[in-house]
Amino acid sequence: MFHIFVCHCEPDTSGRGNLRLNSPAKVASALLCLAMTSVLQSLAMTVRSLARTQNKASLHQQVRHDIFEPMAIEEVIELLEQEYGPKEWQPDRDPIDVLIGTILSQNTSDANSGRAFASLKASFASWEAVASAPTEHIAGVIKSGGLSQIKAARIKQVLEQIEKEQGRISLDSLKSKTMAEAETYLMRLPGVGHKTASCVLLFSLGKPSLPVDTHIFRVAKRLGLIDSKVSIEKAHSLLQEQIPPAKVYQFHIHMIEHGRKICRARQPRCHRCILRGVCPSSLC
Ligand code: SF4
Repeated sequence: MFHIFVCHCEPDTSGRGNLRLNSPAKVASALLCLAMTSVLQSLAMTVRSLARTQNKASLHQQVRHDIFEPMAIEEVIELLEQEYGPKEWQPDRDPIDVLIGTILSQNTSDANSGRAFASLKASFASWEAVASAPTEHIAGVIKSGGLSQIKAARIKQVLEQIEKEQGRISLDSLKSKTMAEAETYLMRLPGVGHKTASCVLLFSLGKPSLPVDTHIFRVAKRLGLIDSKVSIEKAHSLLQEQIPPAKVYQFHIHMIEHGRKICRARQPRCHRCILRGVCPSSLC
């Protein structure tokens, strides 16, 4: 399009290097041509400026990562406690409730899984009744939690297996086991991974296992507490071995709160972050 306008501006044959604008159409073309040139120049300047800003930001981050020592996790725990206050660890929730609630929370929001869990508890008199109900019926009851067919089948299998192995639907026997033994038992249940097992251990059985969700995973990587390339499964053990057992619960709660409010996936609010002075990924 730009070339079309240029073609209408005939060069002057007088040798002075001017353009001959000898008709209204040619004058209009010349003006459009000038306007287009100006727009293109502005665009080019904007693109160059953006590229410079991006290069500066990544250079800034690289320099910070190079000069910052790996952060001591105790420092993070202390600063987050200053910001959000101490959290008391009271592992008094029923283990089966936590197990089923965590299965329901997979791939959905807290609000949806909360509704599905409340519906499940209201519709059945006991976990034994859930275990003996048809999968279709359970799926209908937990529909608001999403993936209801898959979750219903999983919940039924888990409850059946616990009933078969424990003689009743209860995980109380795990309280007297070591954390490793209890974790091994839970992770043998169908569809139960590290995060689900850790939730049961931490919230119900009084064992300091750290559930790592997407918020904790993201914030820990930005802080340099774990390498940016480690998997979420590996992050669980790498973080847990750094945290004093009595602080695992508080660390879990604080990191999730911090990830939701401040160190958000997009546009982290570094200017408001209590950790910015020691964070290698800080943008300020
Ligand atoms: S300084 Fe920024 S990147 Fe670092 S933890 Fe705080 S919000 Fe996240």
